[in-house]
Amino acid sequence: MPVTVKTFTSTNEAAAALSSDRSARYLGGGTLVMRALNEGDISISTVVRASDHALTRIDTGGSRITLGAGVTYARILADRDLGFLHAPARSIGGPAVRNMGTVGGNLFAPNPYGDFTVAMLALDAVVSVQGGLGSREVPIEEFLQSRDRQAGTLVLAISFAKPGNAEAFRYRKIARIKPKGGAVITLAAYLPVNGSRIVGARVALGSMAPTPIRARAAERALEGRSLDASTIDAAAAAAVEGTSPSDSAIASAWYRREIVSVHLKRLLSGQE
Ligand SMILES: Cc1cc2nc3c(=O)[nH]c(=O)nc-3n(C[C@H](O)[C@H](O)[C@H](O)COP(=O)(O)OP(=O)(O)OC[C@H]3O[C@@H](n4cnc5c(N)ncnc54)[C@H](O)[C@@H]3O)c2cc1C
Repeated sequence: MPVTVKTFTSTNEAAAALSSDRSARYLGGGTLVMRALNEGDISISTVVRASDHALTRIDTGGSRITLGAGVTYARILADRDLGFLHAPARSIGGPAVRNMGTVGGNLFAPNPYGDFTVAMLALDAVVSVQGGLGSREVPIEEFLQSRDRQAGTLVLAISFAKPGNAEAFRYRKIARIKPKGGAVITLAAYLPVNGSRIVGARVALGSMAPTPIRARAAERALEGRSLDASTIDAAAAAAVEGTSPSDSAIASAWYRREIVSVHLKRLLSGQE
C-alpha cells in the first residue's frame, strides 16, 4: 500500500496534519514506525515529519532541562551535562538504534521498550504537546495514562527540573540479552535528601504495566525516612503493589512480579 510522506518546516503544520488524519503517524527516528511499515502495517497511510530545529534542541542552561522530542540517545550520550541520563540512554538498543531513536518516540514505545520514559517518569517530567487546538504541557504520568488517546498529537519536548544532586537519580534495566535486550523490567528512582531524610521520593517501573508506572507504595515507604536497611526492605516489599505486568516472550508476569522487589532493593542499595 502506498504511503505518503509529508514534511513540514513548522511544528504547527505538522501537528495540524497529524490531528486531521487518523491514519497519519509522526516519524521520529523511525526505529518503530519504519519497522511497522516494512512489516506491512496498513493502518499507516501517511507519515508526517517536521524539520523545525526546536525539536532537536537540548537546553541544560537553566534550572530545568529540556530535551526536544527529536533528541536521540547518541546526542544525550555526547552531552556531559546529561551524564546522569547516560545509563538509561546507553541501555537502549545498539548503536544504530541509539543514533536514530528519539526521546519523543520512546514515550510511545510499547513493552518491552520505553526505558528512557521510565527515567523521565522518575524525574517527574512534563511533556509539551501540540494538537489541533494549540500547545499545552502535560505531566508525564497523565500523558502515559492517556497514551492511546495521544495519537494525533505532536510531542514537542520533554522537560524536568535539573536534579540538585545527580546521585539522587538511579537507573537499572534487567534484560536477558546483555547489555542491550528488551527489558524484563526497568527501574528508575529519584531520591532527593533533606538532611538525612528522603523528601519527594519517586520510583518508576517499566514492563510492570501497559505503560511505565510510578511505584506509589514503594515511594510512601521511602518518604521522610533515611535510606537505611529497614527502609529499603519496606520499599522493596511494596514494589509490586499496583502493578499489572503481562506475560511476554521475554518473561512471564509471575517472574516480573517475583523479581521487582529484588531489583528495587539492589537499586536502592546502590548495588551493581
Ligand atoms: C532493534 C531494536 C532495539 C530496541 N531496543 C530498545 C531498548 O532497548 N529500549 C527501548 O526503550 N526501546 C528500544 N527500541 C524501540 C525504539 O527504538 C525506541 O523506543 C525509540 O526511542 C523510539 O523512538 P523513534 O524516534 O525511533 O520512534 P519512531 O519509530 O519514529 O516512532 C514511534 C512512535 O512514536 C510516535 N512518535 C515519535 N516521535 C513523536 C513525536 N515527536 N510526537 C508524536 N509522536 C511521536 C510515532 O508516531 C510512533 O507511533 C528498540 C527498537 C529496535 C528496532
